[in-house]
Amino acid sequence: MTREDRTRPGEFELIERLFAPLAANAPGSLQLKDDAALVSGRSGEDLVVTVDTLVAGRHFLPDDPPDLVAKKLLRVNLSDLAAKGARPDFYLLSLALPKDVSFAWLEAFSRGLADDQKMFGITLVGGDTTATDGPLVLTVTAMGGVAAGGMVRRNGAKPGDRVWVTGTIGDAAIGLAALANGMSGLADEQVRTLVERYRLPQPRCAFGLALSGVAHAAADVSDGLAADLGHILEASGAGAVLELGRLPLSSAARAALDLGRTSLEHLVSDGDDYEIVLAAPASAAGALTRAAGAIGLTEVGHIVAEPGLTILGPDGRAVALEKKGFQHF
Ligand code: ADP
Ligand code: MG
Repeated sequence: MTREDRTRPGEFELIERLFAPLAANAPGSLQLKDDAALVSGRSGEDLVVTVDTLVAGRHFLPDDPPDLVAKKLLRVNLSDLAAKGARPDFYLLSLALPKDVSFAWLEAFSRGLADDQKMFGITLVGGDTTATDGPLVLTVTAMGGVAAGGMVRRNGAKPGDRVWVTGTIGDAAIGLAALANGMSGLADEQVRTLVERYRLPQPRCAFGLALSGVAHAAADVSDGLAADLGHILEASGAGAVLELGRLPLSSAARAALDLGRTSLEHLVSDGDDYEIVLAAPASAAGALTRAAGAIGLTEVGHIVAEPGLTILGPDGRAVALEKKGFQHF
């Protein structure tokens, strides 16, 4: 970001130039020219609604590439929709803009949104723009359809269910550590892959579409696998056994582990994976694995009646976590 940009247009011109083009394909956006958007759910569907905020200096750095910030903002919301079994449809964008955010920054930010709109099939329908003396604050509210009554809640896990996760766990945590302190011993390419996983979440939207009516419970992994599985257990009034020896690891994460640069305990305690953790009966294995395709789906444990999360190390012995996932305050 730069000092005050005196060429930055006013609120209405900003909306017209940068954001109205992102809303052009949604009739309900009314071209961002009315007081509100007008959306109707498809018949036989519910609308799943979620919101996330990123604050400069807290969730991203002022000199992070603006298109990446835009994508992260959209993707953390898309990840919530995916975990609930919903199809991405629309979003609202709220901006609290300090004076030093330049037009060029906002332009690059809107290009990032445009790219991801195409990639994930979601469209801007409205928002709010205000000035602030505080830091840049970005909020997206996303909405998506799911069969009526079919949203996948956190509260449906049952004893005997298997616990699965998509993709790989821990890459983002190692990527963040590499950014902070370096990660000697790994190939540059491996470090790049890990950092990329931290910088840009890959929401599992296509997989999410297979969850409704199949998974008993699901959550996206944003606070760490142990913590997010813990949320499912609490809501379901159940417990689980999580086996660290089954944790799906990328080859880069495996290399960091082999070098002693991280631990399995750390990888399930740190957030930002944006994978999906879910509980479903064993009979769902085939359908879920097919839906995951190349992303991969791994059974990492099972649900038990007795409340509480038991974590087993690769040797089968119970381990305790020092830190059970990210909490904001
Ligand atoms: P109101 O004063 O009724 O809240 P605004 O002047 O805030 O209306 O907004 C006018 C229109 O511009 C609305 O359709 C609103 O959704 C849209 N809008 C404002 N800011 C943004 C933004 N950052 N992104 C997308 N749409 C926006
Ligand atoms: Mg307004």
